[in-house]
Amino acid sequence: MGIPPLVSPGPELTAEQKARYARHILLPQIGLEGQRRLANARVLVVGAGGLGSPALLYLAAAGVGTIGVVDDDVVDASNLQRQVVHGVKDVGRRKTESAAETVAGVNPLVQVVRHDVRLSADNALEILADYDVVLDGADNFATRYLVNDACVLLGLPHVWGSIYRFDGQVSVWFAGVGPCYRCVFPDPPPPDAVPSCATGGVLGALCASIGSVQVTEAVKLITGEGEPLVGRLLVHDALRQSWDSLTVRADPDCPVCGESPTVTSLVDYEQFCGMPGASGGADVDSAAPEAGFGEVSATELATMLAERESGQRDFVLVDVREPGEREVVSIPGAVPIHLDRFREGTAAPELPRGIPVVVHCKSGARSAEAAGLLAATGRDDVTNLTGGVLAWVRDVDPSLPTY
Ligand SMILES: [Zn+2]
Repeated sequence: MGIPPLVSPGPELTAEQKARYARHILLPQIGLEGQRRLANARVLVVGAGGLGSPALLYLAAAGVGTIGVVDDDVVDASNLQRQVVHGVKDVGRRKTESAAETVAGVNPLVQVVRHDVRLSADNALEILADYDVVLDGADNFATRYLVNDACVLLGLPHVWGSIYRFDGQVSVWFAGVGPCYRCVFPDPPPPDAVPSCATGGVLGALCASIGSVQVTEAVKLITGEGEPLVGRLLVHDALRQSWDSLTVRADPDCPVCGESPTVTSLVDYEQFCGMPGASGGADVDSAAPEAGFGEVSATELATMLAERESGQRDFVLVDVREPGEREVVSIPGAVPIHLDRFREGTAAPELPRGIPVVVHCKSGARSAEAAGLLAATGRDDVTNLTGGVLAWVRDVDPSLPTY
């Protein structure tokens, strides 16, 4: 099923543009007219990360006239394994600044609009309203639902991609033409049920596989050529090197694009996705006494470990993270017991009563869950490392790597 072109053709191409885009112009499906549509198009890329990086490069090379990029993050050394729009010199810079500079180097004929903000319910409609297509490369569920709902409310198509480890998914959500994201994924997963790439890892080149499909779909929507990925969900397994296409349908009861929508304006998506401390003000510190465990800072833990070393005290330090996370960075003397084992109830019997337990993870959320589960077995000697191993690196040993 084709869809009419989303964008009308811009002015006649200059000689420079004709030379640059000759390989597109040679394609009968694009031609001079299609290239003028691309030059007149405005595409917003949400996130200048794993998916946004290849997407920005190919959108720029394709001659999409205006490319918006929204991201409030800065480039970290651990991004360079997959975020190919950034380089070594960009570590510590704003991602939007780095991306804009790279895009200008690829194609100075396109304009980049930087949005140095975190996309939120307060700013999303205003930002998205300026664009013809939104390409979502977000790494979290709150932003995915936010982008979806904003696109439905604005009537925009939304090219969505998602990656984790060796698996990718990609589709075009377009309410009124096919399903929206919520039609197919009505409920966010429970927080922490789905590990993120930051804890589970991701193959760098997978970003290019999924990000380039997203750009292909954006080009097809802009020029009105081919069969867009509306109503189909592509599921990619890089280890099997397979692509499966699932048919997905609009849900007449969808709360945002259905017949009687209940979501008629943007809501609090962090609360919707059940993220801890999202809006109720219940931060870890105030939640801790209720959950029956204490909190310890990284510097306090360093003192405790030194005292344990000299025999002045005893306790067990437990790392609840994934094995791969420990290979990147570990706190000396920590023993690994995965969070799942606390959930299954098999961790508690391994931790002898009478010896206090300190638990830690990457940033403190997963270990707080483990601490709560352990405290619920009747222990009053459980403590969580506030800020996790990241706080340890920051406050105790900055020579260690982070991720
Ligand atoms: Zn829907």
